Amino acid sequence: MNLQLDKFNDSVAGTIFYKLPENEQKFIKEKSIEFKFSFSQIRQIVDMARDLDMWNEKTIEEIFPEHSLHTLREKKVVFSRLKKAYEELRSKPNSYNGFELKNQRDEQKFTFKTETKEGFGLGLCPVASEKTRCCNLLTLDAVESCGFDCSYCSIQSFYNQNTITFDSGFAEKLKNLNLEKNRTYHIGTGQSLDSLLWGNREGILDALFDFARQNPNVILEFKTKSDNIKYFLQNCVPKNIICTWSLNTPTIIQNEEHLTASLDKRISAARRVADKGVKIGFHFHPIVEYENYLDEYGEVYTRLLKEFQPDEVALVSFGTLTFIKPVIKQLRERDFRSKITQMPFEDASGKSSYPHVTKVEMFKHAYESFAPWHKKVFFYLCMEEHEMWSKTFGYQYATNNDFERAMLAAYTKKLQMEFLI
Ligand code: SF4
Repeated sequence: MNLQLDKFNDSVAGTIFYKLPENEQKFIKEKSIEFKFSFSQIRQIVDMARDLDMWNEKTIEEIFPEHSLHTLREKKVVFSRLKKAYEELRSKPNSYNGFELKNQRDEQKFTFKTETKEGFGLGLCPVASEKTRCCNLLTLDAVESCGFDCSYCSIQSFYNQNTITFDSGFAEKLKNLNLEKNRTYHIGTGQSLDSLLWGNREGILDALFDFARQNPNVILEFKTKSDNIKYFLQNCVPKNIICTWSLNTPTIIQNEEHLTASLDKRISAARRVADKGVKIGFHFHPIVEYENYLDEYGEVYTRLLKEFQPDEVALVSFGTLTFIKPVIKQLRERDFRSKITQMPFEDASGKSSYPHVTKVEMFKHAYESFAPWHKKVFFYLCMEEHEMWSKTFGYQYATNNDFERAMLAAYTKKLQMEFLI
């Protein structure tokens, strides 16, 4: 018995076992000792228990299979039946009906810090890879950490979420940034954080707008889930600036994009910025599969076609959920509710994502829904495998550089800028 107990304690060490409800801890311990489950089986059961709670599904106790004997063979049968029951819940079409949120951050409580930061937050897009067809986006982080709480965000897992840090040397570093004058750049400021959430705090928008004015060969993209557009409305916006909104369905915004602006607020903010003559764009990333998702996304696509003209819109991008193991581990450590990992995982260039067939379905539906804008707006897939392009658009780029060139050519044309290569 003590041997079994010691083995059990070793197995759960370093896992989220002690974060599970006490009754579930008791149940898992009893069953693990009763069936002499292995080290790996016990750790899997702990993760299953956490996932089931995060998804707001039945508990590990409720899905644990009936059993009578305690033979070795029975142990194998019981564990594989348990795994099967769990995988069935993971792969069933998600529904947010009756989904109860738990421990959501419903209020922004932040500590703001301004300090001299080492280095400068300009670099290649943090999620770019040669394994996927990528646009070589350069990203510029004006601030460290984001105030929103999107459950699927892989980047936030690397920051302290309650401390927002501004670099006191940001404006100076930006001014001294020495870029080639005879080349067009595409720089995004909203990859690791929201570009507009903090407005012009610490003068970050002043610095970025000046940077755009000093570097007319740079296409500077502000990407946001907010409606904090005051600075854009009150200031003259250089023509090489585009402002883009990440959009999603109201169901996903309400259940997975916490603290962000509602769909209505985002779309009306985009409308007001476009009315000022600033080119805008829309990112549907992640498109999430759940019951009736195609209809709900279709409504959003149709609304954009009604409320915007293609000459106002520089881009529309599509992407979906992809997870790396550290992020899944991070999500399990948070005691909250999300259905974002309740999906049949398939390998996607070393990451976990939806099965190929699901991605083709969602991307084709998205692209075809924008048929009136084809050839007038630049469409692209973000962080997707090469062949997903031809399955979605009927064409694909041979290299990331080709993709980047096509994107820059389209953006400079829409912005009436010279395209320098
Ligand atoms: S396609 Fe997406 S992931 Fe790849 S570099 Fe561009 S923005 Fe980043």
